[in-house]
Amino acid sequence: MSTPELLHNHLGGQWIAGRGAGTALFDPVLGTELVRVEATGLDLRAGLAFAREHAGPALRALGYAQRAALLGAAVKVLQANRDTYYEIATANSGTVKNDSAVDIDGGIFTLGHYARLGESLGDRRHLLDGEAIRLGKDPLFQSQHVLSPARGVALFINAFNFPSWGLWEKAAPALLSGVPVVVKPGTATAWLTQRMVQDVVNAGIFPPGSLSVVCGSSAGLLDALTPFDLLSFTGSADTAELIRSHPAVARRSVRCNIEADSVNSALLLPGESAGSEAFELLAKEVAREMTVKSGQKCTAIRRVFVPQEHYEAAAQAISARLARTTVGNPRNEAVRMGALVSRAQFSAVQAGLARLQQQASTLHDGASHALVDADPAVACCLGPTLLGSRDAEVDVFHDTEVFGPVATLLPYRDLNHALSLVRRGEGSLVASVYGNDAQALQTAALELADSHGRVHVISPEVGSLHTGHGNVMPQSLHGGPGRAGGGEELGGLRALGFYHRRSALQASTRVLQGL
Ligand code: NAP
Repeated sequence: MSTPELLHNHLGGQWIAGRGAGTALFDPVLGTELVRVEATGLDLRAGLAFAREHAGPALRALGYAQRAALLGAAVKVLQANRDTYYEIATANSGTVKNDSAVDIDGGIFTLGHYARLGESLGDRRHLLDGEAIRLGKDPLFQSQHVLSPARGVALFINAFNFPSWGLWEKAAPALLSGVPVVVKPGTATAWLTQRMVQDVVNAGIFPPGSLSVVCGSSAGLLDALTPFDLLSFTGSADTAELIRSHPAVARRSVRCNIEADSVNSALLLPGESAGSEAFELLAKEVAREMTVKSGQKCTAIRRVFVPQEHYEAAAQAISARLARTTVGNPRNEAVRMGALVSRAQFSAVQAGLARLQQQASTLHDGASHALVDADPAVACCLGPTLLGSRDAEVDVFHDTEVFGPVATLLPYRDLNHALSLVRRGEGSLVASVYGNDAQALQTAALELADSHGRVHVISPEVGSLHTGHGNVMPQSLHGGPGRAGGGEELGGLRALGFYHRRSALQASTRVLQGL
């Protein structure tokens, strides 16, 4: 048997192998070893300094529209290699084609979106923030806020569930802003990130050092950050806590964005009857969210709130849809839901499920799904499981994110009760609200807006048009307060704010003119 390839890192404008045997990446369905990653022995300080000192100035010498053209060229390279990315995703993430598309095509789409947005900014080298405002009675002396591209490097520490989208949704606004990027992907699925970076780097589109990738342990990366660098983390709340307390953030004030886990909700408004269009839209969306990427989406629905009189009907409607989900080997065309990404995730999901099951009934049991074309002793496949409890007050339902195909159905008495239960998530990425009464939907959406980065409102007229509870669109904000990490990403040009420094220029009107 040949030794699996050791993936190279790209740092300091060079491809470098780590020193050591490497950590193996596996096929979660077949259990076979695929490739290895290793970051030991890299000179991280020198690598980040190269990006800061060479790539940064070269990127900032261009205007926004010129950098946008580079993003557009990267899109072409990625599109030309899509087939390879799908093969890697099938092998390493265990995803069916539609789920691979969410990650791969979602990432390419987001990059393309920022290429188009950047074009509209023209060849300027900085952005203005608002109008000049006079500082005294005399209009001659004014204050103009400007946004200048950060002179540091952007370090991304990413989660395993979106090796493509997780890279490009961050890299697009960073590179468009003129800030070089170093990505450390989640180890379990690092292969796809590494290959995409390799293709774009080897195409010679960006100045050397603009796009780097370090695969394997993140040890030492944060130590190499300096005050003008930027750190964007996506992952669990536990790791986020470590990141926040690292001296780079706590002492050197490295700007830090955190996207953490979240116990997202779906809410059927009071007054909707069982079997109504809104009710069916909720059942459909819950089943979809539970099964897309085997529920390994930070935005997936974890808690489902329905009026107490519809608890039984909702349990049946969602379960009936889940029962139709075929689970197993993503290479088999009959399969709709593939695997969890690794043995470790499989065990973590089983443990989380067992924790919830101590307090909840199992309304649809994932174990009832026979695996298609996959060996249950080897494959990290798990059928979708709907849990439920008539007691919605139990803490564990509101503070436990099981990162897999699992959701819990909970009944509420009235709208105030429902809203208070949703808020027990202590800040989430997204809540979706289902109903038909525009006024009631608007009221509920505004009530939930302060505790959610996004409120997805589904009424029958958008039933077949809406973009999906868990789908993150580059036009809309992604992130959430409190437990969700307090971060903000995307939201069109708003995303550029993180990669710019705001400063007030106080000067005469004559000096400020033409900025
Ligand atoms: P994780 O274990 O927290 O890991 C996230 C990243 O941090 C990985 O690259 C990991 O590297 C790295 N890491 C681990 N320990 C570290 C440390 N001490 N210092 C610096 N980096 C460290 O999370 P995960 O299991 O990959 O991802 C699943 C979680 O991410 C879920 O809870 C999900 O909700 C959340 N998530 C949130 C969003 C969002 O946008 N809010 C999106 C996707 C996922 P290794 O892989 O090498 O351990």
